[in-house]
Parts: sequence; C-alpha cells; structure tokens
Amino acid sequence: MTGPFVIPVRDLAHRPGEMRELSIDVPAPEKWGEGLVSVPQGEQVSVDVRLESVHEGILATGDIDSEYSGVCGRCLTDIAEPLQVEFQELFAYPGDEETDFEVQDDHVDLETLVREAVVLSLPFQPVCQPDCPGLDPATGKRMTESDSEQREPLDPRWAALQDFTTDHDDDSPRSRG
Ligand SMILES: [Zn+2]
Repeated sequence: MTGPFVIPVRDLAHRPGEMRELSIDVPAPEKWGEGLVSVPQGEQVSVDVRLESVHEGILATGDIDSEYSGVCGRCLTDIAEPLQVEFQELFAYPGDEETDFEVQDDHVDLETLVREAVVLSLPFQPVCQPDCPGLDPATGKRMTESDSEQREPLDPRWAALQDFTTDHDDDSPRSRG
C-alpha cells in the first residue's frame, strides 16, 4: 500500500484505546474538484489527524487546511481562498462486510477521505466578495470596475528617477567657453 496519504497503524491495530496524532503536508496529487473552483494539483494540503484504535478498526478524525482557487461565479475574476474542513471516518478491519474504508496491511490511506471532504467543501457558487455585483449585461465588464483605470501612485524613488531623466533629456555634449 503506497501513496502520499498512507499512514502505518501497526502500533495501533487491535489495541483499542491506543491513540496517535500526527500532521502531514502533502501536495495535492491531482486537481481536486470539477467546478468553478478547485484545489489545484500540487497545492499544499495539510492534515492534522488523530488515529484512535477502536474495536472495529481505526477511527480517523482530523482537520484539513488547504487553498482553493478558480473564478468568481458572477464576474469570473480569479479567486483564491483558504479551505478548512473536518473529517471523521472509521477504517474497519477487513471482514465479511463491505466497507468504504479499510485497514489494509496495517495501513490506512487517507487520500480518498481527504479528497472527498475537500471536494464536498468547495463552494458551488463561489464569489470574489459576498456582494459581487457580477458583470454588466451590456458591456460584459465587471460592474465593480470603474470606467477609467486608476493610476497607481508613483513610487517616490521612481519619481526621483523620472525627474532625473527629464532633467537630462538633452544629453548632447556641451561645449563650454
Ligand atoms: Zn465577482
């Protein structure tokens, strides 16, 4: 059993009451989510998980921290927002009953669990801001955009440089009497 989210639980298996906490940081192995926003491949996914040995298997409880990105559902502006989601799942010991999550060879693989929790937490209608007015139906431009582009205030250091270059427009050699 291999994978970025595979955790050995040999020390916990069949020892009800035993518990271990750990944190893992893993780049998302693929793009998670198919909507307007998703967790892109390679995005850092941080998982704090508590693994508890219970009679039926290993109970995994944890928090996921990552970041999703994509576009606003109203104005299509690029957005990126932190994502936090909790999860809890029982990894059962292999038995007669089919279960979604099983302890396999003294390991648990959190990947499916983490991915599903992340995907379910992604907003279906993401917005760049709660009151995003969307696009102007006439022009197709963002309603929040002013017609005239705002000029960035000039950095004083560059302003000084501009003065310098202006003062020396005439760079022809000057002959002095
Ligand atoms: Zn927007």
